[in-house]
Amino acid sequence: MRARLATTLGGAAGTMSRLAGRGDGSVIGGVIGLRVEPDLLALLSVDRQIVLVTGTNGKTTTTRLITAALGALGQDVATNAFGANMEAGLAAALGKAPDAPLAVLEVDERYLPRVLKATKPRVVTLLNLSRDQMDRAAEIWLVARRWREALAAAPDCWVVANADDPLITWAASSAAHVIWVAAGQRWHEDSWCCAECGSHLLRDELGWRCGECSFQRPATRWVLEGGSVIDSAGRISDLSLTLPGRANRSNAVVALAVAEVFGVDPAHALPRLREVASIAGRYTRLERRGRQVRLLLAKNPAGWLEAFDVLEPAPAPVLLAVNAQGPDGKDTSWLWDVDYRVLRGRPVFVAGERRLDLAVRLEADQVTFELVDGVDNAVDQVSGPSLDVIANYTAFQHIRVTLGRAE
Ligand SMILES: [Zn+2]
Repeated sequence: MRARLATTLGGAAGTMSRLAGRGDGSVIGGVIGLRVEPDLLALLSVDRQIVLVTGTNGKTTTTRLITAALGALGQDVATNAFGANMEAGLAAALGKAPDAPLAVLEVDERYLPRVLKATKPRVVTLLNLSRDQMDRAAEIWLVARRWREALAAAPDCWVVANADDPLITWAASSAAHVIWVAAGQRWHEDSWCCAECGSHLLRDELGWRCGECSFQRPATRWVLEGGSVIDSAGRISDLSLTLPGRANRSNAVVALAVAEVFGVDPAHALPRLREVASIAGRYTRLERRGRQVRLLLAKNPAGWLEAFDVLEPAPAPVLLAVNAQGPDGKDTSWLWDVDYRVLRGRPVFVAGERRLDLAVRLEADQVTFELVDGVDNAVDQVSGPSLDVIANYTAFQHIRVTLGRAE
């Protein structure tokens, strides 16, 4: 009876926590633990081999893919699978798996330096850096500088970094050991300037370089080439992931590079990556009133471009949902940074608290659309078998709750 009550209360706390955009509810345990023992994270990290994963986009997916790849080692892997990526969430994830010799942890960009110091990871994975919301635009250069300092102070750590992102390259190049991955960069708007000297960066098919100083894209060991990966030994393998889109292929190549540090051959890791079909409800297809609804999360301009890459081809319909609560950022002016013209020629539905902001933006791009009250309203108007949904953070959570949040 007490166990059932505890389970029920835990479930209720988890639901409230998810609705508030604070992960899966396990964070609460981590918060209490850190109050009692401020060094909890360091203590829980002793005698483990840890991978930290950070960047603006793709953290949760890449964490999941690395966890899947390391499964080939046949040992337990601790992970914060629900994206609770600050200290309390990490402590909770490690605390839940006290005997796991391996851990793959997604870390909030701003927390990387202190988490790096506490956990002494074997590998740090740096994916990309772009503005998350307009109110944080100025922060990314500061974030990169702090990563740089933290990595310079961790000489035993390996860094797996995306060489196609100039700011990531600058941050990672202070590290003693870097494995460079050609993972691509969909969003260039936050990296026109050289981090070394402030001059304009030049881009061509070979990559990027500074027009004034010697700062340039480093040579890469791992390359994403269309639907294939070229591994560190020069072998080409077809990725054939279940997860859709270029951004996920890029995350998979990063995961393969991390797995190799642990001695996992791509041939053993790849089948495990292909089995990953859904990340915390994203990409899941849910049945709703006789239609297949697929959920895509996009929290910032770079994320919206990645989501557009994943859409079913036109004339398949799409629902765009935008909120502006705390986790989303209150300022929706970032909507103007995204080019929506690719949505022309398909039915577009617009929902969410800030649907009028988005409507004005779509009008400027001459994308025809229809305002709707919610996901069901859009589903009812769809003539074909499916509907893709792109939503930002709290809009995504809200729609998941409406649809019953099946995995
Ligand atoms: Zn320069």
